[in-house]
Amino acid sequence: MSETMTSDEIRMVIETVSRFVREKVQPLEAEVEERGVVPEDALRAVKREALGLGLFALNMPSEVGGGGLSTFDMCLVEEQLGQTSDALIRRIFGQVYPMLMACTPAQRERYLLPTVQGDKICAMAITEPGAGSDAAAISTTARLENGRWVLNGTKHFISDGDVADYLIVMALTDPETRARGGITLFLVDKDTPGFRVSRKQAMMGHRGYGHAELVFDDCRIPEEAVLGEIGSGFKLIMQSVSAIRLCHIGARCAGMGRRVLELMRRHAAERRQFGAPIGDFQMVQKMIADAAIDIYATRSMVLDCARDIDLGLDPREKVSMIKVFASEMLGRVADSGIQVFGGYGFTKDLPLERIYRDARVTRIYDGTSEIHRMLIARSVIKNGLTL
Ligand SMILES: Cc1cc2nc3c(=O)[nH]c(=O)nc-3n(C[C@H](O)[C@H](O)[C@H](O)COP(=O)(O)OP(=O)(O)OC[C@H]3O[C@@H](n4cnc5c(N)ncnc54)[C@H](O)[C@@H]3O)c2cc1C
Repeated sequence: MSETMTSDEIRMVIETVSRFVREKVQPLEAEVEERGVVPEDALRAVKREALGLGLFALNMPSEVGGGGLSTFDMCLVEEQLGQTSDALIRRIFGQVYPMLMACTPAQRERYLLPTVQGDKICAMAITEPGAGSDAAAISTTARLENGRWVLNGTKHFISDGDVADYLIVMALTDPETRARGGITLFLVDKDTPGFRVSRKQAMMGHRGYGHAELVFDDCRIPEEAVLGEIGSGFKLIMQSVSAIRLCHIGARCAGMGRRVLELMRRHAAERRQFGAPIGDFQMVQKMIADAAIDIYATRSMVLDCARDIDLGLDPREKVSMIKVFASEMLGRVADSGIQVFGGYGFTKDLPLERIYRDARVTRIYDGTSEIHRMLIARSVIKNGLTL
């Protein structure tokens, strides 16, 4: 799936993304935070520009119109994307789930290609009120009836669930076997009778895009709406999540951390107290030094693991370590950022308080820190440290 770019080519892509984020995207952040939505007019123009520059869906293979970047190169790009908010990244650079590569030729035309081209929004519906960390405990069912699948159940916390044109829905096709062949993914159009967005779920962060509870009530979809094979749903999700966790969480947290550090650095030089720049005070220096160490460690872990993925090695243990470390690192760095700014850090004049709030969820979604620590411990206890 990954393709090789020369170091000059990828450097150019990174510089283009970096400049684009700084000049076109960051200026939209304040309005998104204030209004809680991405302004449509501005979005249309900036997204068109991103599409024109070939910056949309960079994670997807070029055979389907994506950027065709290797995992390593994608992590370098994600680090730049992390310099702005999640809502803007989703809308301007696309949120295309890699498991869509399992689409049939007809599904490609209907779902994958329009998503890679920026014409359709997709949401992924796994979590349920009764099944979060234990995803295999879902109770949404899909039964085949007269040549149509009938879905019943409730999903919640689904990012973009309120605006998605279609959803990837995880449902039980065999409640006995569950994760061992009883879970299937389905592609469901938003206007399918029996499907509804039952409520939007207000969150502490992630201003600018919604999270929703979704209900499937005898929702009938075509027999060919299965994504991948019947019973392959859990496996498909597990195969895709490593890259998602590494790029969207690991690399993006490194990027967010860098943005905070840069703000800290400038403020430490400019802000004077007791007749000196606050950067002269050792306790402020410690916060800056610790943030720099944290970011470097995260970045090194991310790029090392990305290399493994590109070599075809199983990255799961490292990805769990990165998921824990990067998300907790960002919490520490965002906290120090606010501290270095004093009262200004607590205001909404700076992006710091947004990053502080948005950082919090990175320890929760895509597997909580506790679940990843449990996976790491199990693996280490069984096999030792296999790095
Ligand atoms: C902003 C946001 C966006 C999201 N987007 C999506 C989305 O797009 N699609 C989607 O499907 N889901 C989404 N989710 C759901 C997310 O993946 C879940 O919230 C997450 O997996 C945790 O599940 P839970 O909330 O049910 O917590 P629970 O599983 O109930 O966990 C509660 C606590 O118990 C701990 N715990 C649970 N089991 C164990 C254990 N075995 N050992 C130790 N501790 C344990 C957890 O670590 C946690 O601290 C989103 C969530 C949020 C907040």
